[in-house]
Amino acid sequence: MDSHIEASRVGALSAGLLKGQTALVTGANSGIGKATAIGLGRAGADVVVNYVSGLEAAEEVVREITSFGVRAVAHEADVSQEAQVTAMVDRTVQDFGTLDILVANAGMQRDATFTDMTLAQWQKVLDVNLTGQFLCAREATKEFRRRGVVPEVSRAAGKIICMSSVHQVIPWAGHVNYASSKGGVQMMMQTLAQELAPEKIRVNAVAPGAIRTPINRSAWETPEAREDLLRLIPYDRIGDPEDIAHAVVLLASDLMDYVVGTTLYVDGGMTLFPGFATGG
Ligand code: NAD
Repeated sequence: MDSHIEASRVGALSAGLLKGQTALVTGANSGIGKATAIGLGRAGADVVVNYVSGLEAAEEVVREITSFGVRAVAHEADVSQEAQVTAMVDRTVQDFGTLDILVANAGMQRDATFTDMTLAQWQKVLDVNLTGQFLCAREATKEFRRRGVVPEVSRAAGKIICMSSVHQVIPWAGHVNYASSKGGVQMMMQTLAQELAPEKIRVNAVAPGAIRTPINRSAWETPEAREDLLRLIPYDRIGDPEDIAHAVVLLASDLMDYVVGTTLYVDGGMTLFPGFATGG
């Protein structure tokens, strides 16, 4: 359910925007990925709901999407495993004929202060957050290239949306693995956008600020934590997963056909250096 804009209004605004397209959303059984998969389905796309664990939650997302009259399937794969990513894209093409939209969303945190951070914590976050997006984008691009532009479906041969974070530009003490992974996502996204634009493949990113999901529960669960967090958000509210879903749906649509290599910050102004509103 959309908490800020009525679901029926969102449905009316986005109806048919992505009709006849197939989307693959990674990490789609929770938080931002779940809202995004549902948003894409509401906009008319068939959706592959990727998950790494939690089949039941993935099936619930599939049920919600199919209630819009489009198709959806749940597919288990670890985005950091090359063979699993290849199999997932192959299955998408087998089931739906092709792939038009990739939302490389799966991500995780393994926090520790710098000298306490183990190599395993560093590696795991880089593997999922950066290498996972590389693998998914590479396999999706092969299918976009094979098929090319189908003008009745979209002006682009394919759209890739990388889920980044405000931490692609805001350093984050105690989270060097996460911030480094998102800094990497920014440069990977821009480089792919430059390389693939001549083939009419649009690569962009969405950079969420603080969104209420399981990944950052400790930052919004208690009133004290919430108050601390709100000091960093000029717009004075914590974001909802639907705020990100709306941005992804628009970016994936032909309304944004000339948007290439851009990061859309969806952060209530978190990247506006709010400390300078009263200081400096
Ligand atoms: P979440 O924990 O609710 O969702 C993360 C999803 O990724 C889950 O479905 C999880 O199972 C999946 N995942 C983890 N490892 C995976 C793997 N190896 N293979 C496939 N799936 C895997 O958190 P979220 O907040 O919805 O995060 C989604 C994305 O948004 C992440 O990339 C995160 O970095 C980014 N983000 C979130 C926020 C926020 O405030 N919540 C802010 C900025 C960026």
